[in-house]
Amino acid sequence: MHQHTGTLHPSTAVVALGRPDPSPDAPLNPPISLSSTFVGSGSPQPGERMYARMSNPTWDGLEEAIASLEGCDVPALAYASRMAAVAAVLSLVPVGGVAAVPAASYNGTIGLARRLAAEGRFELREIDPTDVPATLDLLRGADLVWLESPTNPLLEVLDLPALIAGARSAGALVAVDNTFSTPLRQRPLAVGADLVVHSATKFIAGHSDVLLGAVVARDAELRAQLLAQRTLHGSVAGPFEAWLALRGLRTLALRLDRAEASAGELALRLAAAPGVTRVRYPGLPSDPFHALAAAQLDGFGALVSIELGTASRADAFVGALRLVTPATSLGGVESLAERRRRQPSEPVQVPESLVRLSIGIEHVEDLWADLAQALAAAS
Ligand SMILES: *Cc1c(COP(=O)(O)O)cnc(C)c1O
Repeated sequence: MHQHTGTLHPSTAVVALGRPDPSPDAPLNPPISLSSTFVGSGSPQPGERMYARMSNPTWDGLEEAIASLEGCDVPALAYASRMAAVAAVLSLVPVGGVAAVPAASYNGTIGLARRLAAEGRFELREIDPTDVPATLDLLRGADLVWLESPTNPLLEVLDLPALIAGARSAGALVAVDNTFSTPLRQRPLAVGADLVVHSATKFIAGHSDVLLGAVVARDAELRAQLLAQRTLHGSVAGPFEAWLALRGLRTLALRLDRAEASAGELALRLAAAPGVTRVRYPGLPSDPFHALAAAQLDGFGALVSIELGTASRADAFVGALRLVTPATSLGGVESLAERRRRQPSEPVQVPESLVRLSIGIEHVEDLWADLAQALAAAS
């Protein structure tokens, strides 16, 4: 693979990283390698590909690119989904150890942590990392701390430097979910995180057509541990999915710039719209997390959460949308809306009337026209 250093701007890096060496007649893009097994050399060699659960050339460019964007020269690990990546990271907690996970995490994350704790795998401490002193108290004796910032779907921004420093002095590994910000807006390894986790299903792949997770580990030893686990669990990414994710990554900077600009404008308009009781968007100067977000992030992202008073008004709003699609998930080119509490597994910290908007790359005025007509229809 063609190794680039960190001297490129991120918007160039997403285009240039993870390509085959540019020798004559080499393909410009990494080909999809659809093979379950690889020809051996007779006697096993170190680094031999062997079998597609262990290694696949289609992963290489993507794993190199994601890690490099996170400022890491140890390749990332691609997983079948981000939940497979969460399971892998939680497996780093020793049996009988302590995992600290935010109670208001993405519902799959906290759901898996609760299940593992109920099975006796580890002790779970549910934290509210927006309260730094209380969280630091709970981190004593923890083996692993999970952080997500901005959070899904409350869009709360955590004081990552303070939390990570506290966790590390308690001797815990720190994993940060960077799905919402992407490495173009936040690089948690630079503030001391040990692991960065992505749902590449979202902004990285960017077209709502792939399930894929990724973990970036700070050092080769941690990566080797995760690689051994991934090989045994078989939680590997399909080569086609990995290829699509790298293809999507090429336009990440463009897509995110556009969607984020629209999200900022729509957040302002929604904040002034009748019937909207609260807009959560860290880019709004009035947002309680604005100062932290401005200090930590290179951009405020493309997610906007609004509250509409009651669940039935929120359902009426989502039902009246014509351009924005009612669907879960986020980070694709098309705008989506979801009342999160329609899912029974959603944490109770999320207000019943909260609708999460994932802003896509459509024209901002078309998006506003749709949101405005749906607000009027729901009032
Ligand atoms: C979507 C999402 C997930 C789940 O990702 P999968 O790739 O579907 O497993 C986890 N965490 C966050 C923050 C998400 O947005």
